[in-house]
Amino acid sequence: MNSELYPARRVAEAAGAARAAGLDVLLLTPGPDLRYVTGYDAMQLERLTCLVVPADGEPFLVVPRLELAAAQASPAGNTGLEIVAWEERDDPFRIIKNRVGTAGNAGLSDHMWAMSVFKFRDSLGAARLTVATEAMRSLRIRKSAAEVAALREAGAAIDRVHARVPQWLRPGFTERAVGARIAEAILAEGHAAVDFVIVGSGPNAASPHHELSDRVISEGDVVVVDIGGTMPSGYCSDCTRVYSVGEPPAEFSRYYEVLARAQETGCQSVRPGASAESVDAATRSVIEAAGYGEWFIHRTGHGIGLETHEDPYIVAGNETLLEPGMAFSVEPGIYPGAHGARIEDIVVCTEGGFERLNHATRELVIL
Ligand code: ZN
Ligand code: ZN
Ligand code: ZN
Repeated sequence: MNSELYPARRVAEAAGAARAAGLDVLLLTPGPDLRYVTGYDAMQLERLTCLVVPADGEPFLVVPRLELAAAQASPAGNTGLEIVAWEERDDPFRIIKNRVGTAGNAGLSDHMWAMSVFKFRDSLGAARLTVATEAMRSLRIRKSAAEVAALREAGAAIDRVHARVPQWLRPGFTERAVGARIAEAILAEGHAAVDFVIVGSGPNAASPHHELSDRVISEGDVVVVDIGGTMPSGYCSDCTRVYSVGEPPAEFSRYYEVLARAQETGCQSVRPGASAESVDAATRSVIEAAGYGEWFIHRTGHGIGLETHEDPYIVAGNETLLEPGMAFSVEPGIYPGAHGARIEDIVVCTEGGFERLNHATRELVIL
């Protein structure tokens, strides 16, 4: 599975993307870009680990001596990539400088720590440093069949967590207590890490990125549960559902129906050739037509893959044309204040339209 998910050809593809972006070398420190190119899920440390991919020339991976075994055991060890280990007294920035010379345009992974950025600036001398975001985006934005399968697996795992949420949403429990149970379930259902747990009850449901508080859930509360984690594959899940503890307020029921229709309309607008912003517009128009436009205060969605938030962003002004393999959330929300709601699924653009990766019911779950 690893060689399908992280094929060895990615290093050569990264060199091609660097050339196309006018970069002479890519410098990728631990993070999603490094993992995408090599499959190596390296730890970000003060000791430098860096994949060096010249636009023309031999790529190599620089690692601290004590990380060598881990690097060799990772998929990067099977790709034929040269691994250069540095000892405690060595200066890894000099090692890179001596091999690549005065690289003209160097593209740095956008997750690189500033301390490394400044050391590269000093060691590479005349090189012009920039972020490798555009070059890496051109590769990462279209998911392979293996990546879509990994996202599908992540979607199924978070669906299983949502299926268990109703048992914990009881009057008298705090958001924090419910959140702790959800976090355990995220791991128990197959994730390697919990990325975020949002349990927004009552007025907290109207704050899109509210996480957890000591508010006690009571009868009549609407609760927004937005949760996600990272699978052992490296790929992320992200799904929002809304639960009502007892009968919801009448006003809430009116706009929840609008929200569900908007989310469905947004998903149905996904197809190759449609723009990212057109999906936002299709979703938003349903909410605006119903008079709730001023309460939909964020973009419709974000791409997802090795990061929870990545390109393509589903937002006005993004003219990116959708292509098969692009994966992103469709997550409209309406947040009038006393309560609020958001419905979120991950969808993948396919040849024929779209595939939803979350299948838990989108109807309001009344407990
Ligand atoms: Zn968000
Ligand atoms: Zn999301
Ligand atoms: Zn979410």
